[in-house]
Amino acid sequence: MIEASPKDFRGGNTRHARNCRLAHSQESSFVRAHYPISEFATDLLSAANGRISQEMANILAAGSAEIPAWLSAHGALLQPWAGGQIPWSRKTAFFLGGGKTLLNALYAAARKAGIDVIYDSEVLSLHFGNSALHEVTVDHDSQIERIASRSIVACSGGYQANVGRLREYWGHAADNFIVRGSRYATGRILAQLWSAGAEPAGDPADCHLVPVDARSPQFDGGIVTRVDGLADGVVLDGFGRQLYSGLPADTPRQFSIWGRVIAASPGQCAYLVQNRDVLASRHASFFPPIDTASAAAATSLIPAGIRQSDIVRTGTGIVTPLRPGISFTGLGLKVDPLARPIWRSVGRAGIFAAGMIIAGNFFRGKYLSGLGTTIGIVLGRIAGREAAQYALS
Ligand SMILES: Cc1cc2nc3c(=O)[nH]c(=O)nc-3n(C[C@H](O)[C@H](O)[C@H](O)COP(=O)(O)OP(=O)(O)OC[C@H]3O[C@@H](n4cnc5c(N)ncnc54)[C@H](O)[C@@H]3O)c2cc1C
Repeated sequence: MIEASPKDFRGGNTRHARNCRLAHSQESSFVRAHYPISEFATDLLSAANGRISQEMANILAAGSAEIPAWLSAHGALLQPWAGGQIPWSRKTAFFLGGGKTLLNALYAAARKAGIDVIYDSEVLSLHFGNSALHEVTVDHDSQIERIASRSIVACSGGYQANVGRLREYWGHAADNFIVRGSRYATGRILAQLWSAGAEPAGDPADCHLVPVDARSPQFDGGIVTRVDGLADGVVLDGFGRQLYSGLPADTPRQFSIWGRVIAASPGQCAYLVQNRDVLASRHASFFPPIDTASAAAATSLIPAGIRQSDIVRTGTGIVTPLRPGISFTGLGLKVDPLARPIWRSVGRAGIFAAGMIIAGNFFRGKYLSGLGTTIGIVLGRIAGREAAQYALS
């Protein structure tokens, strides 16, 4: 396994993930009620407005039902709901200890199985062999190596950390996006596979964009940077004009609507202005809001357009600066049920793909909570099995 990041950052955005979506026929200690495979598949198709295939939806939904047993067989556990620390959920289960603990368990299982992981190693290019022995060129700590293999699984994510590629759809607004996860998801492998004739799946508009605190780090701030409670205040652009006044509750759908509204605002910067009273009920946030009772803070951190609003002038408001935070992109590779890319002309045997690089086969437009890790686990298992069988054949 070749990983561009240092060991501490291994596993990309799964480090930040909390839950996965899974079908199940009855309530268990980690998931409520029941969620039939057919309902999961129907949810996928209706969220995508019919723009994904029924066959792929069925494969993901059916494979999701095996996730708990597979995780447990590899030392990773789901969190029981009885402790009361996780939200009520019928369709998703939460990883005990979060994504980082999940990954640590899976890397330990991989080591036990004899799988080597080479860190700090970016795959620069793929070379497709005529006799189906492929090669990859790897930059390993500034040493260039070529590694040959009969089969390859491309699982290098989307291109959300590549501003140049994001600009192709978002224009210069992309310069002001904050990347919520890994800086290593640049889409280099994806672009090469497209150039080599792999069919795309998805749309450049498909991505997960949510409001994050404008003071967040450029990369890897994770879930604590998301700003909730937009419906409990007013969201203004830097000139003090109210942006879209949204849906009543903090639904996941609302987060992504707000992400796009902020992306379309001048300078991609907006301000959530709330009455100080909300502090009592507001979720704890990593960055405290700016308290307008402090004239110094209000003057130095809040633009003039916002300072003129009543709630700020009278010092009764709190202000949170917002930017669009991108979690992942959806445009990727089209694959068949065995996780093989579909090629436009010359087919290339021995190449497989899994994870967010193939997200476009499963989500279009509306993202369903927990889908990302489910795509990674279900299609990762298929791609791994098929790549191993191909290599041994
Ligand atoms: C803050 C945050 C919270 C999230 N929470 C959830 C959640 O609760 N539930 C959920 O289902 N999903 C969640 N997601 C979505 C998450 O991105 C996916 O679910 C999934 O876990 C990640 O998929 P991936 O491994 O395919 O891609 P990525 O996470 O993008 O990983 C790509 C990997 O490929 C490596 N790589 C890239 N290019 C190269 C190269 N050229 N050479 C070598 N290595 C390379 C990267 O270093 C990285 O390890 C969240 C995402 C973020 C950012």
